[in-house]
Amino acid sequence: MSEIYDLHSHSNASDGALSPTELVLRAKQQGVAALALTDHDTTAGLPEARQAAEAAGIRLIPGIELSASFENHCLHIVGLNIDPDHPALVEGVARQQHIRDQRAQKIAEKLAKKGISDAYSVLSRMVGNGEITRLHFADFLVNQGYVETQQDAFDRYLSKGKPGYVPTAWAGLADCIAWITAAGGVAVLAHPLRYKLSTKWINKVLIAFKAAGGQGIEVVTGRASVDDIRLSYLHASKHKLYASVGSDFHAPGNQWLELGRLAALPDGAPPIWQLF
Ligand code: AMP
Ligand code: MN
Ligand code: MN
Ligand code: MN
Repeated sequence: MSEIYDLHSHSNASDGALSPTELVLRAKQQGVAALALTDHDTTAGLPEARQAAEAAGIRLIPGIELSASFENHCLHIVGLNIDPDHPALVEGVARQQHIRDQRAQKIAEKLAKKGISDAYSVLSRMVGNGEITRLHFADFLVNQGYVETQQDAFDRYLSKGKPGYVPTAWAGLADCIAWITAAGGVAVLAHPLRYKLSTKWINKVLIAFKAAGGQGIEVVTGRASVDDIRLSYLHASKHKLYASVGSDFHAPGNQWLELGRLAALPDGAPPIWQLF
């Protein structure tokens, strides 16, 4: 049997529930041989993850998941095998964090207009030097009793068109890819089917992605069906991109979405880890 790679996961440096150490130990327990920690717009969890991985005897691929603007869309670009200390990446990530923090304040202001106060102060205290995401707002709304589930929080407050939604100008797609590449990493388009793009648009995205130096696309993701994998692989083949595999694990408790619980890549798909 081949080794298990899981190249997309989150710790509590962004919206994951586990500390980097807990995440690495759980990956080890699940039989993962190589894990990428890819927190939203931060590399703050990587030093701890690296230490834990060395101690546990599992390979850690340093990573990040950048939020990128492309025309009117927000795309997620996973950077793998990055040097987190590279100045171009450090500077870019600082820019993203500023945008994220401003957005969090605006979301909180919008929620306050609906009578939901204090979200920003509670969440900024909670994340410390980590990043606030909409998932934190969702948990806040659940904990305060405004909604029953995270999904309700998105449906009623946080998704596009809802009262707590704030349109956000993230760094451009080409900039995000350039920072990752400068830092010695490879750029991967995360969960390509989650953006609900038409065929015309996904092709437009992938042409721009590739032109900017992007090299991979997630072909196997956490809950992908056989059809999803087939379609993602079609996009990969058409645009000559390497195939990546990642659970996008955030928290324990969902039996369908676990670290390392991933289908095999289709035969013939070139694995992204050939590049590192
Ligand atoms: P942000 O990058 O701050 O917009 O937050 C996006 C994060 O929120 C994603 O990475 C997911 O973890 C989470 N998320 C987005 N949409 C949903 C949803 N419908 N249900 C649960 N979590 C979601
Ligand atoms: Mn997330
Ligand atoms: Mn994502
Ligand atoms: Mn993710």
